[in-house]
Amino acid sequence: MASDPVSQTRNDAAAQLGKDILRVLRRRIGKDQKAAKQHDWYASAILALRDKIIDVWIESTQRTYENGGKRVYYLSMEFLIGRLLRDALSNLGVSDDMEAALAAYGVDLAELEELEPDAALGNGGLGRLAACFMESLATLDIPAYGYGIRYVNGMFRQRIDDGWQVELPETWLAHGNPWEFERLESTYRIGFGGEVVIEGDGVMWNAAEQVDATAVDTPVVGWRGKRVNTLRLWTANPIDPIRLDAFNAGDHFGALAGTVRAESLVRVLYPADSSPAGQELRLRQEYFFTAASIQDIVRRHVQYEGDVRTLPEKAAIQLNDTHPSVAVAELMRVLVDVEGLEFDEAWEICKQTISYTNHTLLPEALETWPLPLFERMLPRHMQIIYAINSRVLREARRAGCSDAQIAAISLIDESGERRVRMANLAFVGAHSVNGVAALHTDLMKETVFADLHALYPQRINNKTNGVTPRRWLQQCNPGLTKVIVDAIGPAFLDDAEALCALNALADDPLLGDRIAEVKRSNKVALAEHIRKTMGIRLNPDAMFDVQIKRIHEYKRQLLNLIETVALYDQIRSHPERDWVPRVKIFGGKAASSYHNAKLIIKLANDIARRVNADPAVGGLLKVVYVPNYNVSLAERIIPAADLSEQISTAGMEASGTGNMKFALNGALTIGTLDGANVEIRDRVGEDNIVIFGLTAEEVAERRAQGYDPRAVIEGSRELGQALSAIASGVFSPDDPRRYEGLISGIYDHDWFMCAADFDAYAAAQRDVDGRWEDKAGWRASAIRNIANVGWFSSDRTISEYAKEIWKVL
Ligand SMILES: *Cc1c(COP(=O)(O)O)cnc(C)c1O
Repeated sequence: MASDPVSQTRNDAAAQLGKDILRVLRRRIGKDQKAAKQHDWYASAILALRDKIIDVWIESTQRTYENGGKRVYYLSMEFLIGRLLRDALSNLGVSDDMEAALAAYGVDLAELEELEPDAALGNGGLGRLAACFMESLATLDIPAYGYGIRYVNGMFRQRIDDGWQVELPETWLAHGNPWEFERLESTYRIGFGGEVVIEGDGVMWNAAEQVDATAVDTPVVGWRGKRVNTLRLWTANPIDPIRLDAFNAGDHFGALAGTVRAESLVRVLYPADSSPAGQELRLRQEYFFTAASIQDIVRRHVQYEGDVRTLPEKAAIQLNDTHPSVAVAELMRVLVDVEGLEFDEAWEICKQTISYTNHTLLPEALETWPLPLFERMLPRHMQIIYAINSRVLREARRAGCSDAQIAAISLIDESGERRVRMANLAFVGAHSVNGVAALHTDLMKETVFADLHALYPQRINNKTNGVTPRRWLQQCNPGLTKVIVDAIGPAFLDDAEALCALNALADDPLLGDRIAEVKRSNKVALAEHIRKTMGIRLNPDAMFDVQIKRIHEYKRQLLNLIETVALYDQIRSHPERDWVPRVKIFGGKAASSYHNAKLIIKLANDIARRVNADPAVGGLLKVVYVPNYNVSLAERIIPAADLSEQISTAGMEASGTGNMKFALNGALTIGTLDGANVEIRDRVGEDNIVIFGLTAEEVAERRAQGYDPRAVIEGSRELGQALSAIASGVFSPDDPRRYEGLISGIYDHDWFMCAADFDAYAAAQRDVDGRWEDKAGWRASAIRNIANVGWFSSDRTISEYAKEIWKVL
């Protein structure tokens, strides 16, 4: 075997890696092969791999200067990165070497991969987007830093107890984190509160409280190891870890108050998706990481370029949603108060450097802060915001805006309790404001930002989201990847749009068979995982119908559950019909304060208990609620899905990225014309996706006309029966009134139009059944999905940002 030169080189590489691992085990872990436990091998493997990464890291940082030196800075409150080992191995092309190296010591790489904690520093799509973007930036060889917070506990771990969500702290750092480098020399002092004083002809902010922000860096490896970028997460340290006088006087806790206050800054991620967390601590977190990042960016620029005024030529700062939008005021503060620039000059630099991505249209979800809170915590920034506001409103008046338009544009909401509008601040302080799917961008122009758009008509642009095909195809679905390589060659590994070569083979029965075999084995693997972890047995030949995402009323898990109940009822009433066996798989976390979302989780579990135990439906219907949905679970579930549920109320899901991952793995979508579903339909063709329900425009019309859900429910026997069953306690005999409130919400107002879309949804599901029974047709559709969603690669998205917003390509 070792006689051919290629496998000889491979063997040499594996042998070298094996030696590296043993050396690391001895020198850095302090053990030998005999004493090493699984965890020691895990840490040694990562450290040995990290040593390889460091060389590329240093080399690519140096290369930045040769390429003009402009860097992208991606500021995000969330990075939902998940596990890194498989990603780094695969992107460096050393997965096989590592597997062989470890096997020589009797260690299984797959087992080590399972030891890695899932870094859940995000809620959902927004944080995962940031992680996919980091990978694509490195892949496209764009010099970039991601900036965020190193949360000690991150997103909560979800347990399901008797059907209810229980939130537990995620202790992902419990065994240390072999990936990261603490950069003690990159520490910045961050102030809060205090007062602003005039000093000479300048202004001084005397903060009442200060903490140190220290950088902790994680390398991000691009595909084929071309470039390694930095994810720089800030941790907080007290300036005085202990007040010894107080401690010695017996006030042991008071003496440590500064430490507790600093540590609380980076303790948890606020578990709220699509609604602002209105907590003082949240504003402190936002300012903390934004201020540290801005100081770091300006420091680096001045150090290498000398003159802060060239900042826009060398730095592009992208704000991922409004959470870091205080960056506008902070950059102005640094430029004016610290660097001594005139306000007008600073304002131009600020706008040219910063750009902003909007992720939500829901007016109630746009971040605002009570003015007294903001002024107390950030008095200098408040002054700067007033100064910006007077400039912007002057421009608006000059442009002929009405009083109502002026009120909408203002950075201060004066309609009730006065509040600072973070989205307006980000909009006026940026040269580019982008939406994340075509429909969302259009709606931005018509709704939340209509008046700002009229004043600055060039600013809004669209950048439809994407996902990295490395993690979401190659790594999570190696079986499918291999079949595709065999069918069309490896070009798609470097350019996902090359997947379109599969179109010519969509009706090839051999390819259809091979893809179906891979799907089946992924389903067997998922079923095995669910049997082991939950004790539920699933039939891998049933259709796996999946809805995994944050639990939110607008995402309409409830619509899916109501249809599940209706289907259950139908199967029981008509056992003689040829039902398509289905497994309904749900997963997702609910914000801890979101009552209805938590009740929806309980309902899913109540329905599961009843349906799964009912011999009358036999193997025809099973319902599974998979606990603790996260990136690693997504990587298991998505390759095993037949049907992807993307059923939000039209106009409410900005883009979605789950929808893209499923299609890339050969699932068919059942969905509304919302977010990126619209563009997915345009690309895969309407015969290969099942679209139903009201459009965004129709939803708006229905609401304007005075929508009457009661009348709708009276017109649909199936819907009425399902709702009564839930409301009357059929699924909750232990507490028959548990769902009364949830269901009466549908009768009374039905904000999310579950009733209005129910009949169309149920009919679409029966259409799905029909397609499933046509095996060849289903397989061809699955291939056409894979073939045509390469465009949703985050490489494409990032290259659009790079060319059109950052000007770095
Ligand atoms: C992709 C992803 C999301 C986003 O899913 P949507 O269906 O777009 O809301 C959320 N969480 C995880 C873990 C993901 O991987």
